[in-house]
Amino acid sequence: MDHGKFQGLKQWKCEGDPAHVLGLLRRIESSVLVDGTIIRYHTAQLMLFKESVNLHDAMPDEIEVAGTVEGMMLTSMKWTCTCCGKVKTWHPGEEALLWIKMNGRR
Ligand SMILES: [Zn+2]
Repeated sequence: MDHGKFQGLKQWKCEGDPAHVLGLLRRIESSVLVDGTIIRYHTAQLMLFKESVNLHDAMPDEIEVAGTVEGMMLTSMKWTCTCCGKVKTWHPGEEALLWIKMNGRR
């Protein structure tokens, strides 16, 4: 992906230095079939960068994505900032769900 895609997306930042961006958070629409009825819902998707982006440095031409995590799928996950080695824990129940609530209305 190219760094222009940073715009309009919530950055998931390092706890040691807010200039270190570990990934991007976006809201996605999902659906599940329950007893013949399709239930649609919004969830957060966290896209993790293989290498953290340091906003103090020049933006890399291309950012490698290590993988994506969806908010409802797990209870917590740890990710290490490659800039400073600080570990951040992903809590979908707190950060993501609050963010969905605030951004959920179009
Ligand atoms: Zn960091």
